[in-house]
Amino acid sequence: MTVDQLRTAVSGPVVAPGDSEWDAARRFHTGVGAPVVIVRASSVDDVRAALRIAVSDREDVMIRSGGHSAWGAVPGGVTIDISALNSIRVDGDLVHVGGGATWGAIATELATHGLGLSSGDTASVGVGGLTLGGGIGLMVRAWGLAADQLVGAQLVTADGDVLEVSPRSHPDLFWALRGGGGNFGVVTRFDFRAHALPAVAFAHLGIDGDARPVLRALRDLLADAPRELTATFSDVPAMDPNMPAGATIAAVWAGPDEAGLRAALAPLVALDGVHEIEAAVRPYRQILLEVPEADPDVPMPGFVGGNTLLDQLDDDAIERLVAFRQARPASVVLLRSLGGAYADVAQDDSPFPAREATWFAMAGAFDVPGMLDDTSRADAEAAWAAIEERGSGCYGNFTPSTDPSWVARMFSAETLARLARIKREWDPGNVFCRNHNVVPAEA
Ligand SMILES: Cc1cc2nc3c(=O)[nH]c(=O)nc-3n(C[C@H](O)[C@H](O)[C@H](O)COP(=O)(O)OP(=O)(O)OC[C@H]3O[C@@H](n4cnc5c(N)ncnc54)[C@H](O)[C@@H]3O)c2cc1C
Repeated sequence: MTVDQLRTAVSGPVVAPGDSEWDAARRFHTGVGAPVVIVRASSVDDVRAALRIAVSDREDVMIRSGGHSAWGAVPGGVTIDISALNSIRVDGDLVHVGGGATWGAIATELATHGLGLSSGDTASVGVGGLTLGGGIGLMVRAWGLAADQLVGAQLVTADGDVLEVSPRSHPDLFWALRGGGGNFGVVTRFDFRAHALPAVAFAHLGIDGDARPVLRALRDLLADAPRELTATFSDVPAMDPNMPAGATIAAVWAGPDEAGLRAALAPLVALDGVHEIEAAVRPYRQILLEVPEADPDVPMPGFVGGNTLLDQLDDDAIERLVAFRQARPASVVLLRSLGGAYADVAQDDSPFPAREATWFAMAGAFDVPGMLDDTSRADAEAAWAAIEERGSGCYGNFTPSTDPSWVARMFSAETLARLARIKREWDPGNVFCRNHNVVPAEA
């Protein structure tokens, strides 16, 4: 690999093993990478130059935006770090965001214009990975997936061409970018249509004792709730000081209507064992989580479980999810309500699976050395499988790896075939393969 060639062609820093910045440059949010070289692109032209050289040297290419994916540590290849392409420009209700911006920075800037976008729940997550995978956020019922708000993008293709992609100019590519992952090129700018959002009403509820009746009530309440309300249930062990252990519900109203939120949550708050931790009207940015970077000296634990999209959160699914968590001290369960604007998008308008789903569910046991033996690992796998079989497909951004078995679960055969045809057109050599890879269709 011609590090010297890259240093000549690219104006941003090119960092290679042995350089003083190497250890810092190869860290990302959830781990430490081991690529051949890291190009910190400072412009679209840098992205093009780095791509050209990587392709001619037959190196795999890894794009890094916010660096939160679970697969950033796969060794080898050229990492093109686009985090410096992080400009945010507001033009009416259109927001033009550099492909390396973070959702925290976007929310901060949009607040100054009285606007908001449905994003993920964590400030440091990148717009790139989250949007291209879909993006299930704290206001998903109000405004859909992050990707549903996309109206255009600037894309550097495997050939180094710069395209302005819109539903009119490149309908297939535009379709593929809304859930098909980083398979089709480097998005150097996302164009979103934002929504008026002076502030959000937010409530954080704690659950003592049995979560089952609370989850049944939450499900029943969401079935008729205004779409402004999105709720997230989580039950986590003590992981870090920003995420208190235990079972909680975070409820977000996409607007400053605290009375509306309180009225919607009243049946829940009336239940034994549910207590209000806080309720307030806040700028959206202030309710985004601050999750510290992983300690590079502590290997990331494995994750035995998965995620799925549930048509219905029936009593049996609730029972299995709660039992999964109860049986395993080092495990998590997360549920986020869907429906509303998420369900307004027709199934074949984007590659994202299961628009009819009403809940997103994730559960897993942490596989820390010495904590799970073969039997308990197999038990956790079986317990998760019994939950997953109730769902439709899975959400790629929450999978622990990019193993092809996940890709098969993420997309229907028909969707995958359509993605593969688009891949053949725009990346026939599979330059963008460090992702949930869509293999180009055969000619
Ligand atoms: C703490 C935490 C909280 C999270 N919360 C949520 C949440 O609330 N909702 C949700 O839906 N997901 C959430 N996620 C999952 C998140 O969506 C994925 O981890 C996503 O991949 C992160 O995007 P990133 O840009 O930060 O990651 P990166 O690792 O930088 O990118 C991930 C992949 O996306 C592709 N990619 C990224 N940017 C580009 C680009 N500009 N052009 C082309 N390809 C690109 C590449 O294939 C890359 O490997 C969370 C993850 C973490 C760690």
